[in-house]
Amino acid sequence: MNYHRYYSVDVVNGPGTRCSLFVAGCVHQCRGCYNKSTWSLNSGIPFTQEVEDQIIADLQDVNIKRQGLSLSGGDPLHPQNVPTILKLVKRVKTECANKDIWLWTGYKRDQLTPQQNQVLDYIDVLVDGKFVQDLADPNLIWRGSSNQVIHYLHRKS
Ligand code: SF4
Repeated sequence: MNYHRYYSVDVVNGPGTRCSLFVAGCVHQCRGCYNKSTWSLNSGIPFTQEVEDQIIADLQDVNIKRQGLSLSGGDPLHPQNVPTILKLVKRVKTECANKDIWLWTGYKRDQLTPQQNQVLDYIDVLVDGKFVQDLADPNLIWRGSSNQVIHYLHRKS
């Protein structure tokens, strides 16, 4: 998996103070996409073990307390990103107590593959659906267009 940006302290992508990761790769090609540079799986830079370790360390940091991790892009649920994302979210839930995980995807929840659905077992909130320019509303919180849905999930761990 490649990624574009990692913010170790972020207060605009999800509730509270968070770590945010923007991955590479998206098939949805939404008109009006604000992040076209992330569409190619080969864009950005490699997501290394060191970056994963840094995210865990930042979430465990007691000096700047983070509420959790935000995963966006690009699309974290692009099939080629799922194995790496699954490894990351499992680690966060195992090693970072009481941190929530929010994930934004262009897929609809009811259309996810079994492989993509595995990720949902380890996240707290899924914001799903493509960005639809005709339904865009700057007053919406945590989503760009009104067709997108914020799903508060029950997680297993
Ligand atoms: S899902 Fe997000 S990143 Fe992908 S094309 Fe749509 S707005 Fe852009």
